[in-house]
Amino acid sequence: MSTPHEIRSDASTRVLTLRWTDGREQQIPHAKLRRACACSECRRIRLDGLVVQAAPDVTLVDVHLMGYGAQLIFSDGHARGIYPWRYLEQIVEAG
Ligand SMILES: [Zn+2]
Repeated sequence: MSTPHEIRSDASTRVLTLRWTDGREQQIPHAKLRRACACSECRRIRLDGLVVQAAPDVTLVDVHLMGYGAQLIFSDGHARGIYPWRYLEQIVEAG
């Protein structure tokens, strides 16, 4: 499993940058991360065919490393989502 060796969140551009051990660098907008939240509540919303609401100016305020992934804390107070590294890779690949 690939893991990022550097994680950088930029509050001004609202972009999370992940540098993977194989040299790839990926950038994910904070609002996109929020819409893709991995918590059970947000998964249910998407399973129901709905879209998780995220303000365009939502920002990522903290990242808690969990070993297999990261818990992402957002400026709207949502902090339940733990994003496995593989899931973060898929968010990027999904465009
Ligand atoms: Zn969520």
